[in-house]
Amino acid sequence: MDDRGRDDLVVVVGSINVDLLLTVERHPRPGETLLGGAGTQSAGGKGANQAVAAALRGAPTAMVGAVGDDAGADVALAQLRRAGVDLAGVATVPGPTGLAVVTLDEAGENTIVVVSGANEKVGGEVLDGAAAVLLRARVCVLQGEIPPDSIVAAARTAHAAGARVVLNAAPALELPAATLAVADPLVVNEHEARLVLAWAGADVPTVEGGVEDRPDGGGPALARGLRALGVPSVVVTLGAAGAVGVEADGEWSVAGLRVPVRDTTGAGDAFVGALAASLARGSSLHDAARDATRVAAYSVQRLGAQDSYPDQEAELP
Ligand code: ADP
Repeated sequence: MDDRGRDDLVVVVGSINVDLLLTVERHPRPGETLLGGAGTQSAGGKGANQAVAAALRGAPTAMVGAVGDDAGADVALAQLRRAGVDLAGVATVPGPTGLAVVTLDEAGENTIVVVSGANEKVGGEVLDGAAAVLLRARVCVLQGEIPPDSIVAAARTAHAAGARVVLNAAPALELPAATLAVADPLVVNEHEARLVLAWAGADVPTVEGGVEDRPDGGGPALARGLRALGVPSVVVTLGAAGAVGVEADGEWSVAGLRVPVRDTTGAGDAFVGALAASLARGSSLHDAARDATRVAAYSVQRLGAQDSYPDQEAELP
């Protein structure tokens, strides 16, 4: 990596996958063999998605993680390379690259099987090997698809080195209080917010109706509840309804943007990656969430995850 923008570096520590999408007329029953339609391979994994989103928004970005010693590694890394993400912190380990097999039927119902593969091995050795990268982070982004101990360790190291930790508890995972205490912000969707509160033994606010019917309903209560766990700042994403935030300075909300929706895959990752890129540039959390909402709304209008993310030339809604 060159020295340009080193001070604004976003480091994403997380998963790198190959996504294999198979279309089927209907899902097979156990023991049954069906012919599928098109099978498309693309780069995925929440960590890689977020790194691509941040880099396309112009943030110098580095990825820390692992791929296997198989052919999937090149597929998984292709978009990261294209987006200019520094891959010095990505280890190659024996065994398969992470793989998510998605079958999508004609009714739009999907089934997903995830093989963690190399992502399971993002532990002490991989993190030690990437220490130089991690210590240069202005913003360190973490999610739930690597071993929990590694999330805890990376959050601790990044925070101690002066980085701002963006912790996306997705998929939801139980985290120690010390890790929640450095999440600035903790980013969760409504479902994850409820689980994190429940695991912490806190009250889980109940609200009638769906999120879409109540943009100002459940979100703030969930965000306040999470902040009461000792989390410095919290962002709860609310799908089409946007996002709400609670931090020391107060509360805010960002309305969702009304756009024609094609595919929401990876929208949450677009949001987190864009949020991190803005924070690294020095934006306030509220401003970063406004930008992230526009980036996520751009992505839901297009197919795929990484393929649907805007670069700096794109016209955002
Ligand atoms: P996740 O995909 O992680 O479950 P959400 O569904 O909350 O998270 O979506 C993340 C963000 O993506 C939202 O905060 C919003 O900005 C954007 N988004 C999601 N769905 C839509 C939609 N239907 N229309 C516009 N924006 C959307």
